Amino acid sequence: MSFTSLGLSAPILEAISEQGYETPSPIQSQAIPAVLEGRDVMAAAQTGTGKTAGFTLPILELLSKGQPAQANQIRALILTPTRELAAQVAESVATYGKNLPLRSTVVFGGVKINPQMMKLRKGVDVLVATPGRLLDLYGQNAVKFNQVEVLVLDEADRMLDMGFIHDIRKILAQLPKQRQNLMFSATFSDEIRTLAKGLVNDPVEISVSPRNTTVESVEQWICPVDKNKKSAVLTKLITENEWQQVLVFSRTKHGANRLTRHLEGKGISAAAIHGNKSQGARTKALANFKNGSVRVLVATDIAARGLDIDQLPQVVNFDLPNVPEDYVHRIGRTGRAGATGQAVSLVCADEFKQLSDIERLIKQLIARKQIDGFEPVNKLPESRLNQRPVRTNKPKKPKAGHRDGQRSGENAQGHKPRGKNKRHASGLRSTA
Ligand code: AMP
Repeated sequence: MSFTSLGLSAPILEAISEQGYETPSPIQSQAIPAVLEGRDVMAAAQTGTGKTAGFTLPILELLSKGQPAQANQIRALILTPTRELAAQVAESVATYGKNLPLRSTVVFGGVKINPQMMKLRKGVDVLVATPGRLLDLYGQNAVKFNQVEVLVLDEADRMLDMGFIHDIRKILAQLPKQRQNLMFSATFSDEIRTLAKGLVNDPVEISVSPRNTTVESVEQWICPVDKNKKSAVLTKLITENEWQQVLVFSRTKHGANRLTRHLEGKGISAAAIHGNKSQGARTKALANFKNGSVRVLVATDIAARGLDIDQLPQVVNFDLPNVPEDYVHRIGRTGRAGATGQAVSLVCADEFKQLSDIERLIKQLIARKQIDGFEPVNKLPESRLNQRPVRTNKPKKPKAGHRDGQRSGENAQGHKPRGKNKRHASGLRSTA
């Protein structure tokens, strides 16, 4: 299968070929024809599968054939949970659409709203947005939705995790009922299905495995260690193995800050990236990590989600995630694009339950390696593989007929309302 057989026109094919893409990824070969046909799509896919091009390419193709956006109007709306993801998606839109006369921009909170209003004034064909800032702009009449033809919810599961459900519903209520809906989510929980029920209509369902679910290219191992020795063992691992680029996952923002300080104190350049950091600090930390001037990036799951950092040699789970799927997301950061990687989890006795859940999900026991001098006082119990099946993430078909997200009567059970500090959004780039 080649991109040419998918129904994309020359300006887009040229942009793809400039990126060096030769063959469509599985999600692209399934999603592109479906979107071009005008179908709704519900896809279980996460970062690394090529999902962004999977929805961006056909949207650009469709938009290139219609009328341009009028003043303050938008034609395709892509909602993402975090500013970083919004910026990355906007960059992809700009890259893939560079040979087309379409306008795109991105809006998110945490930066000045006025320049965003200016960009929207003439109308844009593709708007990438985080929900909170989009609503602010809508409230100030800076953006109008009458011309919206396509809606994309990217990383829908993470949007719910971050408490965006109310904002999403408010946005859905303002969109034209006749539109195409594309929903992407790494996992398909009951809450996601409920949201989907009110959103997608007779969708084409796509489910692709993350490239690394089987993690053949990733060497995974566990280092059993007491909680209070984790920073020291990590320092030893980085120094003795001369790891040069390490992404470390921390469960909490404070933990990320503490660890960053510890590493800096040991002469290892490190930066933290999480929701309490300013947009500027996050962008800088990521750029420095990518260009090699920062050796260790300590991230929380939410901040790291959707970041396109290719071919990381080392991922360290400083804490195990509470949600076992996050383990797969985290280690999916290593060995991308065929490179091999190593994923190390520092596991203390308190985390045995999380470890068992992860091993059950990935259907394998993870090898353990004891580091000399760090034998835990509180022993980590031996794992035994629990063979009971874990619920799959495959999307189930929602009932057809609900299109506006307001009629299905579902509620947002269990979601904490988004506080002010949970606003994720902002930064701006636009293309002609
Ligand atoms: P995504 O899953 O959208 O975050 O994409 C992950 C990475 O795969 C990005 O760096 C893309 O540039 C890259 N990519 C997307 N589609 C292809 C393709 N067909 N061939 C090679 N690389 C791709």
